[in-house]
Amino acid sequence: MLGPLVAAIDQGTSSTRFLVFNSKTAELLSHHQVEIKQSFPKEGWVEEDPKEILQSVYECMERTCEKLTQLNIDISNIKAIGVTNQRETTLVWDKETGEPLYNAIVWLDLRTQSTVERLINKTPGRNKNHLKHKTGLPISTYFSAVKLRWLMDNVDEVHEAVVSHRAMFGTVDSWLIWCLTGGKSGGVHCTDVTNASRTMLFNIHTMDWDPELCKYFGIPMEILPRVRSSSEIYGLMKSGALSGIPISGCLGDQSAALVGQMCFQDGQAKNTYGTGCFLLRNTGPKPVMSDHGLLTTVAYKLGRDKPACYALEGSVAIAGAVVRWLQDNLGIIGSSEELEKLAASVGTSYGCYFVPAFSGLYAPYWEPSARGIICGLTQFTNKSHLAFAALEAVCFQTREILDAMNQDSGIPLTQLQVDGGMTSNRLLMQLQADILCIPVVKPSMPETTALGAAMAAGAAEGVSVWSLNPEDLSEVTSEKFEPQINPEESEFRYARWKKAVQKSMNWET
Ligand code: ADP
Repeated sequence: MLGPLVAAIDQGTSSTRFLVFNSKTAELLSHHQVEIKQSFPKEGWVEEDPKEILQSVYECMERTCEKLTQLNIDISNIKAIGVTNQRETTLVWDKETGEPLYNAIVWLDLRTQSTVERLINKTPGRNKNHLKHKTGLPISTYFSAVKLRWLMDNVDEVHEAVVSHRAMFGTVDSWLIWCLTGGKSGGVHCTDVTNASRTMLFNIHTMDWDPELCKYFGIPMEILPRVRSSSEIYGLMKSGALSGIPISGCLGDQSAALVGQMCFQDGQAKNTYGTGCFLLRNTGPKPVMSDHGLLTTVAYKLGRDKPACYALEGSVAIAGAVVRWLQDNLGIIGSSEELEKLAASVGTSYGCYFVPAFSGLYAPYWEPSARGIICGLTQFTNKSHLAFAALEAVCFQTREILDAMNQDSGIPLTQLQVDGGMTSNRLLMQLQADILCIPVVKPSMPETTALGAAMAAGAAEGVSVWSLNPEDLSEVTSEKFEPQINPEESEFRYARWKKAVQKSMNWET
């Protein structure tokens, strides 16, 4: 049965997608995906082209609409569009010309490492958690404020635009919503609370930009977007086949996945395996501060008058990115799909451990100077073992985060809900269950991030998606991976991994 349709733009680190769902059944009716180029102009730098990102969104929308028309589905049934996006990635553009003033600096980028070290050195007791009481975050290269500071200090065009009051800052959601709602001819400059909470300029208690934080980083508040809830009408699409349709949902990708997985209860958690890997646990209406290296972040606020909900988050910088590295830099696989076959051909790393700390280590260590290492090599080791070790690395990193989360909450998670591009790798899912010693559950509809954004958009337009109704939860079909190795074996491998991590943090000494 076809009900009103809800759509989502899912702008990730490695690709952009546009997806259309039937609100009655949450069925994915049609979608289109376009890869995004990443450039690495210097060691540690990661950039993307804002115009390419925007173009990819238009292309995905057009192709999806064509596919719907071929299916005899009227695109005028689309009632609302949500935006979900790679978080922290930082852009500045000129509001008069509409032109970006530099490439987007991607969340993984390490160029601000020396700035971060200087800031930490200036805090009492060299405390990287100096701003955590307001932001929920450690001072790190990861978040937007230091990237924005770098742009203001190093790019003349940005500096001049700031001085002459023409600059607009935004994360990818802000850039897209501004462009799609009219750009320089009246586009709406806004972001939502979840994206704002990743900038280090946002106070997660007052739920607004914080003047003291802005002063600390030297950011003029006039360049910041207006902060809105995750579910309300921000503006209408100004051009193309979807012109006139409201954009009414906005969530950072990890928050959208939490919503799409229906983790609305305190204690529910999900882990998303994309370029990075992000485990979020809903902690309800009050922010919980971690004692074990996790972030406190805004999970969602589904309506202007609705309460905010918070989450504890464990962020891993390199998950799918290690697969891309094996493909692009070492050439040992031709596509990410080949990795599973290669690793499965040996079924073991043969004592090889691979810590892919390419961008330092995020949670729970927050060590920007860590670097990748491969250890335990013998004459026998071959590329299949390395492939296996890369998959295991993703699982061990998740185990570290889950351990931290269990310690923080005192209530161990009994199963893990998963999603994201890497979960199509069934060997990875089995390894994950083995290394966590709990079942791993994967929904049959993998596009949970997009579904979350579409749900938020629909809710603002009075279109409730079936999955917001808890009675429908039983209809969710999923695949369960049960642990298959004994816990002693799992502990032994995990202990070895921990030793390798120590080496990645002290490799220079
Ligand atoms: P993002 O949202 O960060 O762009 P996605 O959820 O789209 O990421 O997942 C893409 C990532 O997953 C890529 O880094 C890719 O290398 C990895 N990936 C996709 N399929 C597989 C697979 N079968 N095995 C291992 N990794 C995979």
